[in-house]
Amino acid sequence: MENIVIIGSGPAGYTAAIYAARANHQPLLIEGPQLGGQLTTTTEVENFPGYPDGVEPYQMMEDLRRQAERFGTRFVSGVVTKVELGNPHRITVEDTDIYETKAVIIATGASAKYLGLPSEQTYRGHGVSACATCDGFFYRKKTVAVVGGGDTACEEAQYLAGLCEKVYLIVRKPFLRASQIMQDRVLNNPKIEVLFEHNTLQLTGEGKVQGADLIYRKGEIDEQIHHIDIDGFFLAIGHHPNTQLFADSLARNEEGYLLVDGVTQQCLTTNKQIAHGVFAAGDCCDPHYRQAIVAAGSGCKAAIDADKYLKTL
Ligand code: NDP
Repeated sequence: MENIVIIGSGPAGYTAAIYAARANHQPLLIEGPQLGGQLTTTTEVENFPGYPDGVEPYQMMEDLRRQAERFGTRFVSGVVTKVELGNPHRITVEDTDIYETKAVIIATGASAKYLGLPSEQTYRGHGVSACATCDGFFYRKKTVAVVGGGDTACEEAQYLAGLCEKVYLIVRKPFLRASQIMQDRVLNNPKIEVLFEHNTLQLTGEGKVQGADLIYRKGEIDEQIHHIDIDGFFLAIGHHPNTQLFADSLARNEEGYLLVDGVTQQCLTTNKQIAHGVFAAGDCCDPHYRQAIVAAGSGCKAAIDADKYLKTL
Protein backbone atom coordinates (compact mmCIF):
# COMPACT_ATOMS: atom_id res chain seq x y z
CA MET A 1 0.00 0.00 0.00
CA GLU A 2 1.38 3.37 -1.05
CA ASN A 3 0.80 6.57 0.90
CA ILE A 4 0.75 8.90 -2.09
CA VAL A 5 0.80 8.14 -5.79
CA ILE A 6 1.39 11.11 -8.07
CA ILE A 7 0.31 10.81 -11.70
CA GLY A 8 2.28 13.11 -14.00
CA SER A 9 5.81 14.38 -14.42
CA GLY A 10 5.44 18.09 -15.13
CA PRO A 11 6.21 20.93 -12.72
CA ALA A 12 3.06 20.11 -10.71
CA GLY A 13 3.86 16.41 -10.31
CA TYR A 14 7.52 16.89 -9.41
CA THR A 15 6.79 19.70 -6.97
CA ALA A 16 4.11 17.59 -5.30
CA ALA A 17 6.71 14.82 -5.07
CA ILE A 18 9.30 17.10 -3.44
CA TYR A 19 6.84 18.16 -0.76
CA ALA A 20 5.34 14.69 -0.24
CA ALA A 21 8.80 13.15 0.00
CA ARG A 22 10.01 15.77 2.48
CA ALA A 23 6.92 14.97 4.56
CA ASN A 24 8.27 11.42 4.69
CA HIS A 25 5.64 9.74 2.51
CA GLN A 26 8.06 8.18 -0.02
CA PRO A 27 5.68 9.01 -2.87
CA LEU A 28 5.50 6.99 -6.04
CA LEU A 29 5.45 9.18 -9.14
CA ILE A 30 4.15 7.75 -12.40
CA GLU A 31 5.90 9.44 -15.31
CA GLY A 32 3.62 9.30 -18.32
CA PRO A 33 4.26 9.40 -22.06
CA GLN A 34 5.77 12.92 -22.08
CA LEU A 35 8.48 12.97 -19.47
CA GLY A 36 8.76 16.47 -18.04
CA GLY A 37 5.33 17.42 -19.35
CA GLN A 38 4.33 20.14 -21.76
CA LEU A 39 7.10 22.47 -20.71
CA THR A 40 9.55 20.31 -22.59
CA THR A 41 7.88 21.37 -25.85
CA THR A 42 9.06 24.92 -25.35
CA THR A 43 12.50 26.32 -26.18
CA GLU A 44 13.52 28.23 -23.16
CA VAL A 45 11.84 29.07 -19.88
CA GLU A 46 12.35 32.75 -19.17
CA ASN A 47 9.65 33.39 -16.62
CA PHE A 48 10.23 30.81 -13.89
CA PRO A 49 11.52 32.76 -10.88
CA GLY A 50 15.08 31.96 -9.91
CA TYR A 51 16.49 31.69 -13.43
CA PRO A 52 17.51 35.25 -14.38
CA ASP A 53 19.18 34.02 -17.58
CA GLY A 54 16.40 31.56 -18.49
CA VAL A 55 16.72 27.79 -18.43
CA GLU A 56 16.32 24.97 -20.92
CA PRO A 57 13.12 23.14 -20.09
CA TYR A 58 14.76 19.69 -20.09
CA GLN A 59 17.35 20.97 -17.63
CA MET A 60 14.68 22.41 -15.39
CA MET A 61 12.66 19.21 -15.39
CA GLU A 62 15.77 17.13 -14.74
CA ASP A 63 16.58 19.42 -11.78
CA LEU A 64 13.04 19.04 -10.41
CA ARG A 65 13.20 15.27 -10.83
CA ARG A 66 16.55 15.02 -9.03
CA GLN A 67 15.23 17.21 -6.24
CA ALA A 68 12.23 14.91 -5.82
CA GLU A 69 14.47 11.83 -5.91
CA ARG A 70 16.83 13.26 -3.30
CA PHE A 71 14.10 13.09 -0.65
CA GLY A 72 12.93 9.59 -1.50
CA THR A 73 10.50 9.80 -4.42
CA ARG A 74 10.30 6.59 -6.42
CA PHE A 75 9.52 6.64 -10.14
CA VAL A 76 7.61 4.33 -12.44
CA SER A 77 7.25 5.02 -16.13
CA GLY A 78 4.19 4.11 -18.16
CA VAL A 79 0.73 5.22 -19.11
CA VAL A 80 -1.98 5.03 -16.48
CA THR A 81 -4.82 3.13 -18.12
CA LYS A 82 -7.31 2.93 -15.27
CA VAL A 83 -7.99 4.65 -11.97
CA GLU A 84 -10.52 3.20 -9.52
CA LEU A 85 -11.15 5.69 -6.76
CA GLY A 86 -12.12 4.12 -3.44
CA ASN A 87 -10.56 2.91 -0.26
CA PRO A 88 -7.83 2.28 -1.27
CA HIS A 89 -7.52 3.91 -4.69
CA ARG A 90 -6.29 1.49 -7.36
CA ILE A 91 -4.17 2.76 -10.20
CA THR A 92 -3.41 0.56 -13.19
CA VAL A 93 -0.38 1.26 -15.34
CA GLU A 94 -0.17 -0.14 -18.90
CA ASP A 95 -3.17 -2.43 -18.13
CA THR A 96 -0.96 -4.69 -16.01
CA ASP A 97 0.64 -3.16 -12.93
CA ILE A 98 -1.73 -2.17 -10.15
CA TYR A 99 -0.78 0.23 -7.36
CA GLU A 100 -2.95 0.68 -4.28
CA THR A 101 -2.69 3.98 -2.46
CA LYS A 102 -4.25 5.96 0.34
CA ALA A 103 -3.95 9.25 -1.55
CA VAL A 104 -3.52 10.20 -5.17
CA ILE A 105 -2.37 13.48 -6.70
CA ILE A 106 -3.50 13.92 -10.29
CA ALA A 107 -1.05 16.06 -12.26
CA THR A 108 -1.78 14.77 -15.74
CA GLY A 109 -1.49 18.15 -17.48
CA ALA A 110 -2.95 19.03 -20.85
CA SER A 111 -2.30 18.15 -24.50
CA ALA A 112 -2.21 20.12 -27.72
CA LYS A 113 -5.41 20.67 -29.70
CA TYR A 114 -5.74 20.04 -33.43
CA LEU A 115 -8.11 21.80 -35.84
CA GLY A 116 -9.91 18.57 -36.69
CA LEU A 117 -9.23 18.63 -40.43
CA PRO A 118 -9.03 15.21 -42.11
CA SER A 119 -5.81 16.30 -43.86
CA GLU A 120 -4.22 16.99 -40.46
CA GLN A 121 -4.43 13.29 -39.71
CA THR A 122 -3.19 12.32 -43.17
CA TYR A 123 -0.01 14.34 -42.77
CA ARG A 124 0.59 13.83 -39.05
CA GLY A 125 4.32 13.23 -38.74
CA HIS A 126 4.70 14.25 -42.40
CA GLY A 127 4.61 17.99 -42.05
CA VAL A 128 1.99 18.42 -39.32
CA SER A 129 3.23 19.03 -35.80
CA ALA A 130 2.05 20.53 -32.54
CA CYS A 131 5.54 21.16 -31.24
CA ALA A 132 7.91 23.58 -32.93
CA THR A 133 10.70 22.85 -30.50
CA CYS A 134 10.49 19.13 -31.15
CA ASP A 135 10.17 19.30 -34.93
CA GLY A 136 11.33 22.74 -36.05
CA PHE A 137 14.81 21.45 -36.79
CA PHE A 138 13.44 19.45 -39.75
CA TYR A 139 12.30 22.66 -41.44
CA ARG A 140 15.54 24.61 -41.52
CA LYS A 141 15.57 27.09 -44.43
CA LYS A 142 12.03 26.04 -45.38
CA THR A 143 8.64 27.73 -45.21
CA VAL A 144 6.18 26.84 -42.48
CA ALA A 145 2.86 28.01 -41.07
CA VAL A 146 1.84 28.29 -37.44
CA VAL A 147 -1.85 28.41 -36.49
CA GLY A 148 -3.01 30.42 -33.48
CA GLY A 149 -2.85 33.88 -32.00
CA GLY A 150 -1.89 33.23 -28.38
CA ASP A 151 1.43 33.21 -26.57
CA THR A 152 2.23 29.69 -27.70
CA ALA A 153 1.67 30.52 -31.37
CA CYS A 154 3.79 33.66 -31.13
CA GLU A 155 6.53 31.83 -29.28
CA GLU A 156 6.53 29.00 -31.82
CA ALA A 157 6.51 31.44 -34.75
CA GLN A 158 9.48 33.28 -33.25
CA TYR A 159 11.35 30.05 -32.67
CA LEU A 160 10.67 28.81 -36.19
CA ALA A 161 11.68 32.16 -37.68
CA GLY A 162 15.12 31.49 -36.24
CA LEU A 163 15.36 28.31 -38.31
CA CYS A 164 13.17 28.78 -41.34
CA GLU A 165 13.17 30.92 -44.46
CA LYS A 166 9.65 32.18 -43.82
CA VAL A 167 6.87 31.69 -41.28
CA TYR A 168 3.18 32.39 -41.82
CA LEU A 169 1.16 32.95 -38.68
CA ILE A 170 -2.46 32.07 -39.38
CA VAL A 171 -4.77 33.92 -36.98
CA ARG A 172 -8.53 33.57 -37.16
CA LYS A 173 -9.30 36.93 -35.50
CA PRO A 174 -8.22 40.43 -36.60
CA PHE A 175 -5.89 40.62 -33.59
CA LEU A 176 -3.45 38.54 -31.57
CA ARG A 177 -4.36 37.33 -28.12
CA ALA A 178 -0.74 36.97 -26.98
CA SER A 179 0.93 39.19 -24.39
CA GLN A 180 2.15 42.54 -25.75
CA ILE A 181 5.84 41.61 -25.65
CA MET A 182 5.19 38.48 -27.72
CA GLN A 183 3.01 40.40 -30.18
CA ASP A 184 5.72 43.01 -30.65
CA ARG A 185 8.36 40.38 -31.30
CA VAL A 186 6.23 38.65 -33.92
CA LEU A 187 5.00 41.78 -35.66
CA ASN A 188 8.53 43.16 -35.88
CA ASN A 189 10.09 39.97 -37.18
CA PRO A 190 10.65 40.36 -40.95
CA LYS A 191 10.52 36.59 -41.46
CA ILE A 192 7.01 36.30 -40.02
CA GLU A 193 3.93 37.20 -42.07
CA VAL A 194 0.79 37.38 -39.98
CA LEU A 195 -2.37 36.41 -41.86
CA PHE A 196 -5.19 37.86 -39.77
CA GLU A 197 -8.75 36.62 -40.25
CA HIS A 198 -7.58 33.47 -42.00
CA ASN A 199 -8.66 29.89 -41.41
CA THR A 200 -7.22 26.70 -42.80
CA LEU A 201 -9.48 24.73 -45.13
CA GLN A 202 -7.16 21.89 -45.97
CA LEU A 203 -3.55 20.82 -46.33
CA THR A 204 -2.26 19.63 -49.65
CA GLY A 205 0.77 17.69 -50.91
CA GLU A 206 2.07 14.42 -52.28
CA GLY A 207 2.69 12.23 -49.23
CA LYS A 208 3.75 15.22 -47.12
CA VAL A 209 2.61 18.77 -46.52
CA GLN A 210 3.44 21.01 -49.48
CA GLY A 211 0.74 23.63 -49.13
CA ALA A 212 -2.42 24.85 -47.44
CA ASP A 213 -5.68 26.29 -48.71
CA LEU A 214 -6.77 29.17 -46.56
CA ILE A 215 -9.95 31.15 -46.39
CA TYR A 216 -9.83 34.84 -45.64
CA ARG A 217 -13.03 36.13 -44.14
CA LYS A 218 -13.69 39.76 -43.49
CA GLY A 219 -17.20 40.18 -42.19
CA GLU A 220 -20.04 38.01 -43.45
CA ILE A 221 -19.65 38.30 -47.19
CA ASP A 222 -16.08 39.16 -48.10
CA GLU A 223 -14.43 35.75 -48.57
CA GLN A 224 -11.36 34.75 -50.53
CA ILE A 225 -9.71 31.37 -50.80
CA HIS A 226 -6.04 31.29 -51.49
CA HIS A 227 -3.15 28.87 -51.35
CA ILE A 228 0.21 29.11 -49.63
CA ASP A 229 3.19 26.86 -50.32
CA ILE A 230 4.54 25.47 -47.06
CA ASP A 231 6.65 22.52 -45.93
CA GLY A 232 5.40 22.37 -42.35
CA PHE A 233 2.17 23.13 -40.51
CA PHE A 234 2.36 23.77 -36.77
CA LEU A 235 -0.66 23.83 -34.48
CA ALA A 236 -0.58 26.21 -31.52
CA ILE A 237 -4.27 26.66 -30.77
CA GLY A 238 -4.38 25.68 -27.14
CA HIS A 239 -4.72 22.52 -25.14
CA HIS A 240 -7.23 20.19 -23.60
CA PRO A 241 -6.78 18.69 -20.14
CA ASN A 242 -5.79 15.03 -19.79
CA THR A 243 -8.64 14.05 -17.52
CA GLN A 244 -10.57 11.48 -19.57
CA LEU A 245 -9.65 8.79 -17.04
CA PHE A 246 -11.77 10.60 -14.47
CA ALA A 247 -14.79 11.41 -16.64
CA ASP A 248 -17.06 9.08 -14.67
CA SER A 249 -15.66 9.65 -11.21
CA LEU A 250 -14.65 13.28 -10.74
CA ALA A 251 -16.29 16.64 -11.37
CA ARG A 252 -14.95 18.49 -14.42
CA ASN A 253 -15.94 21.75 -16.07
CA GLU A 254 -17.37 21.83 -19.60
CA GLU A 255 -13.87 21.87 -21.11
CA GLY A 256 -12.85 18.86 -19.05
CA TYR A 257 -10.72 20.59 -16.40
CA LEU A 258 -10.94 18.91 -13.00
CA LEU A 259 -12.75 20.91 -10.35
CA VAL A 260 -11.10 21.27 -6.95
CA ASP A 261 -12.83 22.53 -3.86
CA GLY A 262 -11.08 25.89 -4.17
CA VAL A 263 -9.73 26.25 -0.66
CA THR A 264 -7.61 23.14 -1.14
CA GLN A 265 -6.61 21.04 -4.14
CA GLN A 266 -9.12 18.33 -3.18
CA CYS A 267 -11.09 16.96 -6.11
CA LEU A 268 -14.85 16.64 -6.11
CA THR A 269 -16.90 13.65 -7.15
CA THR A 270 -19.34 13.97 -10.04
CA ASN A 271 -22.07 14.80 -7.52
CA LYS A 272 -19.84 17.55 -6.06
CA GLN A 273 -18.90 15.77 -2.83
CA ILE A 274 -15.28 15.81 -1.60
CA ALA A 275 -13.38 12.92 -3.20
CA HIS A 276 -11.47 11.74 -0.15
CA GLY A 277 -7.74 11.40 -0.68
CA VAL A 278 -7.91 12.64 -4.28
CA PHE A 279 -6.09 15.84 -5.18
CA ALA A 280 -5.34 17.62 -8.45
CA ALA A 281 -2.56 20.00 -9.42
CA GLY A 282 -1.31 21.80 -12.49
CA ASP A 283 -2.87 22.24 -15.90
CA CYS A 284 -5.36 19.37 -15.54
CA CYS A 285 -7.30 21.61 -13.13
CA ASP A 286 -6.23 25.07 -14.31
CA PRO A 287 -8.14 26.45 -17.31
CA HIS A 288 -6.96 29.96 -16.58
CA TYR A 289 -3.29 30.51 -15.74
CA ARG A 290 -1.56 27.45 -17.26
CA GLN A 291 1.91 28.52 -16.17
CA ALA A 292 4.72 26.32 -14.88
CA ILE A 293 5.10 28.38 -11.72
CA VAL A 294 1.38 28.11 -10.99
CA ALA A 295 1.46 24.37 -11.67
CA ALA A 296 4.40 24.01 -9.29
CA GLY A 297 2.54 26.06 -6.66
CA SER A 298 -0.57 23.92 -6.91
CA GLY A 299 1.60 20.77 -6.74
CA CYS A 300 2.95 22.06 -3.44
CA LYS A 301 -0.59 22.74 -2.20
CA ALA A 302 -1.80 19.30 -3.26
CA ALA A 303 1.06 17.61 -1.39
CA ILE A 304 0.40 19.62 1.77
CA ASP A 305 -3.30 18.75 1.50
CA ALA A 306 -2.49 15.08 0.95
CA ASP A 307 -0.18 15.08 3.97
CA LYS A 308 -2.92 16.57 6.13
CA TYR A 309 -5.40 14.02 4.80
CA LEU A 310 -3.08 11.11 5.61
CA LYS A 311 -2.70 12.38 9.17
CA THR A 312 -6.48 12.20 9.63
CA LEU A 313 -6.58 8.51 8.76
P1 NDP B 1 -4.56 30.31 -25.89
O1 NDP B 1 -5.82 29.65 -25.52
O2 NDP B 1 -4.11 31.53 -25.16
O3 NDP B 1 -4.62 30.74 -27.43
C1 NDP B 1 -5.10 29.86 -28.40
C2 NDP B 1 -5.08 30.59 -29.75
O4 NDP B 1 -5.49 29.65 -30.74
C3 NDP B 1 -6.04 31.77 -29.81
O5 NDP B 1 -5.50 32.80 -30.60
C4 NDP B 1 -7.26 31.15 -30.48
O6 NDP B 1 -7.98 32.06 -31.24
C5 NDP B 1 -6.60 30.17 -31.43
N1 NDP B 1 -7.50 29.08 -31.79
C6 NDP B 1 -8.16 28.24 -30.96
N2 NDP B 1 -8.89 27.35 -31.68
C7 NDP B 1 -8.68 27.65 -32.97
C8 NDP B 1 -9.15 27.12 -34.19
N3 NDP B 1 -9.99 26.08 -34.21
N4 NDP B 1 -8.73 27.68 -35.35
C9 NDP B 1 -7.87 28.72 -35.34
N5 NDP B 1 -7.38 29.28 -34.23
C10 NDP B 1 -7.78 28.75 -33.06
O7 NDP B 1 -3.47 29.14 -25.86
P2 NDP B 1 -1.89 29.22 -25.74
O8 NDP B 1 -1.46 27.81 -25.85
O9 NDP B 1 -1.32 30.19 -26.68
O10 NDP B 1 -1.61 29.75 -24.27
C11 NDP B 1 -2.16 29.07 -23.14
C12 NDP B 1 -1.74 29.80 -21.87
O11 NDP B 1 -0.34 29.64 -21.66
C13 NDP B 1 -2.01 31.28 -21.92
O12 NDP B 1 -2.41 31.71 -20.66
C14 NDP B 1 -0.68 31.86 -22.30
O13 NDP B 1 -0.51 33.18 -21.87
C15 NDP B 1 0.28 30.91 -21.60
N6 NDP B 1 1.59 30.85 -22.26
C16 NDP B 1 2.58 31.62 -21.76
C17 NDP B 1 3.84 31.62 -22.33
C18 NDP B 1 4.88 32.49 -21.72
O14 NDP B 1 4.53 33.31 -20.90
N7 NDP B 1 6.12 32.32 -22.07
C19 NDP B 1 4.16 30.78 -23.49
C20 NDP B 1 3.04 30.00 -23.96
C21 NDP B 1 1.82 30.04 -23.36
P3 NDP B 1 -8.97 33.14 -30.57
O15 NDP B 1 -8.08 34.22 -30.02
O16 NDP B 1 -9.78 33.55 -31.73
O17 NDP B 1 -9.75 32.41 -29.52
